[in-house]
Amino acid sequence: MPTTRKASKPSSDTQRAVLRSLSQQVAAELIDRPAVWLRDNPHLAARTDGDRYNARELVANVLATQPPAELPDGMLEAVRQVVECVYPDGNRFDVALAVVESVEKRFGNAGLAAVGAALLRHLREWNELDPWRPPSLPSETEFVAEAVEKAKAESKERHRTLAEGWEATEAGRLVYVCPHCKRHRFGRSWNPPPIPTGYAEHEHTMTCDGCRSKGRL
Ligand SMILES: [Zn+2]
Repeated sequence: MPTTRKASKPSSDTQRAVLRSLSQQVAAELIDRPAVWLRDNPHLAARTDGDRYNARELVANVLATQPPAELPDGMLEAVRQVVECVYPDGNRFDVALAVVESVEKRFGNAGLAAVGAALLRHLREWNELDPWRPPSLPSETEFVAEAVEKAKAESKERHRTLAEGWEATEAGRLVYVCPHCKRHRFGRSWNPPPIPTGYAEHEHTMTCDGCRSKGRL
């Protein structure tokens, strides 16, 4: 009879087998949720035969349900401009790429989920505010004349704002201004003038949340 007993380390195969077959209690502890969560979420619980749980699948499933990261206002504003195609509008895909890469670098997949959430919100808002309707076209002559007049006026204004906004574009520091109340958007809020130092007014306007809630487009 041996007088001392040496605890032998479990082999890698044994550990893997254990991870593929957790009890309900251990599975719940692994993901820091009550056991009832496993019963309420059978599609995520990664249950195997015989009332056991697969740790690898369970963790992957739970990670996939994590909420998007809470981005700070400055970063959220940049992301919203990417989602709204502000940068690709001027072929500045490099600026858009840098914004999204910085979000990924700081927040990982939760940051990319935040970008997706911003895109989803943008699409929902605009699909509701400005749904597509079949156009009723004027005659070709009227259509062209109207477009020429509009383009002339816009070009004049655009030339001015392009020059003013170029430097701000390079730095990713443009803000939208509401055409109705002149507030500008900064992250989650719409602030009264003046625009913060170092930022420039975007050449396009955007109606603020308050004015939209009053039915203005
Ligand atoms: Zn407004």
